[in-house]
Amino acid sequence: MSELVSPDADDEDLDAEASVRPRRLADFIAQHRVRDQLELLLKGAMGRGTPPDHILLSGPPGLGKTTLANITAAELGTGIRTTSGPVIERSGDLAAILTSLGPGDVLFIDEIHRIAKPAEELLYSAMEDFRVDVIVGKGPGATAIPIDVEPFTLVGATTRAGLLSGPMRDRFGFVAHLDFYSPEDLDALLHRSARILGVPITAGGAAEIAGRSRGTPRIANRLLRRVRDFAEVRADGVVTEETARAALKVYDVDALGLDRLDRAVLRALIESFKGGPVGLSTLAVAVGEQSDTVEEVCEPFLVRAGLLARTPRGRVATEAGWAHLGKTPPSGTVQ
Ligand code: ATP
Repeated sequence: MSELVSPDADDEDLDAEASVRPRRLADFIAQHRVRDQLELLLKGAMGRGTPPDHILLSGPPGLGKTTLANITAAELGTGIRTTSGPVIERSGDLAAILTSLGPGDVLFIDEIHRIAKPAEELLYSAMEDFRVDVIVGKGPGATAIPIDVEPFTLVGATTRAGLLSGPMRDRFGFVAHLDFYSPEDLDALLHRSARILGVPITAGGAAEIAGRSRGTPRIANRLLRRVRDFAEVRADGVVTEETARAALKVYDVDALGLDRLDRAVLRALIESFKGGPVGLSTLAVAVGEQSDTVEEVCEPFLVRAGLLARTPRGRVATEAGWAHLGKTPPSGTVQ
């Protein structure tokens, strides 16, 4: 899949995202239910003068988990330490971070489902009793030295909530799932980003980009930057419906936000296998990709867009899938 419509961040994003990242809850677009619940949690805790319960944010990449972690600290007026599950290999690494937290700080652990088991166990006592047992020595002579940590709020983010252990999940007092954004939400988000970046954008331009952003703010912001390049180099600098269409044609992102590989999968399914059903590995071979890439990167979006369905007998193209390639589905095609 091209980098352009991948929900994962690349190096360019990290810099570019900083300028448009909302800093406060009031600037966080959409996700109203999560926003409301989080506001209550934070205001309640601030009123009592205690750190709020630990917060677990789950959902696909690029929907705003890191942003909400930073907003939590900003709303509470505390510091934030950021780390990620795969980085914490030894419990000592985590103990060092925990004991350096200031009172009420936020500890943000991205990809928390990938934390190593010994570190996860150390985290339990830190989350529950604000205490960690640091093991000194080895074998029968090893002793556990209890060390207090300042009361803190853990914000954990995960793209795979199902992989979290039960004891871990139970220790979060607030669990929120972020959903994909509607085109209307992305439209509002694009207007906000364009304003911050100083990019003139029309209603048609924003709508065109919003519709191709796969429900994902990170992709919307990235497409906006690419369309801005095109508008500045090949047009008058204004992001209009026309420039957005022309730019995204250059970048091979189609009207629904499918890129070349997504379309190759759909085309193979329809043209080589008459719409399916066909097994995943056969489909992957037909497009010259790894099964994992097809399953984890292309399929979720094709399924969500209603173009492909997973059935017990294999993958099938839906009526909308046939129509997207401009073909007439045979009778009996799933809707
Ligand atoms: P990952 O798990 O891949 O790190 P994430 O869910 O943590 O993704 P963020 O890094 O928080 O995603 O968000 C990606 C970008 O989208 C950020 O630049 C942020 O500016 C923007 N963004 C996300 N959600 C919103 C929102 N609700 N309103 C405005 N901008 C948003």
